[in-house]
Amino acid sequence: VLKHYITGFPKESDMELVTTGAVRLKVPEGTTAVLVKNLYLSCDPYMRSRMTKHDEPSYVPDFIPGEAITGYGVAKVLDSNHPNFNEGDYVWGITGWEEYSLISSTEGLIKIKYTDVPLSYYTGLLGMPGFTAYIGFFEICKPKKGEYVFISAASGAVGQLVGQFAKLMGCYVVGSAGSDEKVNLLKDKFGFDDAFNYKQESDLNAALKRRFPQGIDIYFENVGGATLDAVLPNMRIHGRISACGMISQYNLEKPEGVRNLIFIITKRIRFEGFLLFDHIDRYPEFLEFTVAHVKDGTITYVEDVVEGLENAPSALIGLFFGRNVGKQLVVVAKE
Ligand code: NDP
Repeated sequence: VLKHYITGFPKESDMELVTTGAVRLKVPEGTTAVLVKNLYLSCDPYMRSRMTKHDEPSYVPDFIPGEAITGYGVAKVLDSNHPNFNEGDYVWGITGWEEYSLISSTEGLIKIKYTDVPLSYYTGLLGMPGFTAYIGFFEICKPKKGEYVFISAASGAVGQLVGQFAKLMGCYVVGSAGSDEKVNLLKDKFGFDDAFNYKQESDLNAALKRRFPQGIDIYFENVGGATLDAVLPNMRIHGRISACGMISQYNLEKPEGVRNLIFIITKRIRFEGFLLFDHIDRYPEFLEFTVAHVKDGTITYVEDVVEGLENAPSALIGLFFGRNVGKQLVVVAKE
């Protein structure tokens, strides 16, 4: 549970593990709720925003201190009064950071169609981050073969897939990440054409110019701040920027300014924000496309797996320090 609302960087002591009394593993009569056993929980950057009290409603509700944190996860249905879910089904969607959850509003729950791939993939590759990569790249960036693509936070849950989608499209792909280990993954495992450790570059603008002498057609924006500022002058005319996230800003009390916005005009850039919720009707199309590539081995995925609910707070916080290598998830139970 979140103990209290926070400002600045989250700390482990802002959350605590609590034990409740015995729970009845039955759905209450007269409801259409679903009772699940949680298997895998997803740690996602947007959860940071929910740890702060907002005066105006945000696009996701603030957490309620003292109640179990909610977020995306994979679970097994133990009991259900809902016509779409049966005992024994595997589901992914919004659940609680707890061993068992009674889910009353099931619109955020999807029955898992393919169980012959690792179920943990529904926290990442085949779940919310993977779908974000698909919409953000194909729908927002509208890529063409041979275009020059740059991705920040490229080894993470979203970025590693954007890069592989871009390679499937025949693009030239460069990613940035915060360690040499991550840079090697980008080049050796995910097939990026080039990659660099942004923490080792004193001049990001020059680092991009060296890798994109002809300029960038598509920037998949995950971090904001100094990276965005360096990208803008390096964009080509009629380039596209898909504004997926700006993680470098999430813990700042005052967001950093971006000096180079003028290039949006002079280079006629289309800079478009998106949220995956608005595209959820395309999830089945994404699933079929991605599962086929996973099964034939043309898409691969790296997960950073932590065991035990008691380790979930540090795993979540680790996202904001770049501690995760690949998709960060927490195993609550194996079955
Ligand atoms: P990741 O798995 O990439 O984890 C976060 C990573 O961000 C860290 O590992 C770290 O990698 C990097 N990072 C953290 N702090 C900074 C910083 N100050 N400057 C630069 N990089 C930093 O997360 P996801 O792939 O799940 O999410 C990527 C982005 O996509 C986030 O911004 C998230 O909010 C956004 N998002 C948006 C959605 C939408 O609907 N629009 C849906 C899902 C995600 P490194 O070591 O490389 O620095």
